[in-house]
Amino acid sequence: MRELKKIKYTYTSDQKHWVGDGFHVYGLLRPSEELNKFISPFIMLDYASPKEFPITDKRRGVGEHPHRGIETVTFAYQGEVEHRDSSGGGGVIKPGDVQWMTAGKGIVHDEFHSEEFSKKGGVFEMVQLWINLPKKHKMTNPKYQEISSGVIPAISLGDKIKLRVIAGSFEETKGPSTTYTKVNLYDIISKENKRIFLNFENGTNTVILIMSGEVTLENKNFKDKDILIFERAGSQIDLKVSDNFKGLILNGEPINEPIVAQGPFVMNTKEEIYQAFSDYQNGKMGRL
Ligand code: MN
Repeated sequence: MRELKKIKYTYTSDQKHWVGDGFHVYGLLRPSEELNKFISPFIMLDYASPKEFPITDKRRGVGEHPHRGIETVTFAYQGEVEHRDSSGGGGVIKPGDVQWMTAGKGIVHDEFHSEEFSKKGGVFEMVQLWINLPKKHKMTNPKYQEISSGVIPAISLGDKIKLRVIAGSFEETKGPSTTYTKVNLYDIISKENKRIFLNFENGTNTVILIMSGEVTLENKNFKDKDILIFERAGSQIDLKVSDNFKGLILNGEPINEPIVAQGPFVMNTKEEIYQAFSDYQNGKMGRL
């Protein structure tokens, strides 16, 4: 009998904010000393819930900006995101695709709705997650992984419920992403009411984002835009999902190191943050 992981914190937001002019997001995870104990190696999560964008000639998004010390992982659910970066990475991700950018020692990139999506308009929905890098990998070379939906294995948990393994593993199935710490990332789309079990290593951190539908856990109901953060202790989550559920499951081995996060940089000390701003201004993170 596995010990159940208990919910430590729940959080939701009814406040959306704009990232550039293309991403209207709920900021659902933000770094803080207390929260880091239960969300590390994850740092930040923004959810751009479904939103209709009209046809436009001018592409919406965020212009050139840097990152250091983290990986940014973008999950496209509706619409298309185009990215270019100073390490030569770039491409368009479509619904079901994931873009995994390792900023490492420094990268400059931009993030826009794709040209094709802008011309057609339509509903846009995505998630951006920041994953911390441990001290020994913070200054690694930048890398770009484009993970198309075709290479993400999908497992049937029932007649109408699929779990996709984006990173790490689920039972015997391995995900395609290369990671710097032990991370399991799944998304689940359900069209049936179903009780499911998720098993993780005892002592790891786990977060569930509900994008749509409902979850029942510990006899409580949770709904879209709720984020559930679990205790490290325990190794199983026993939950019921509704027949319109879509969610993201994050699990990872915590990085037990100090965090100093400022703007687009996440380092271990203030001095390293000052150095990051200076290196960016001096062009050491490259240019587009
Ligand atoms: Mn960015």
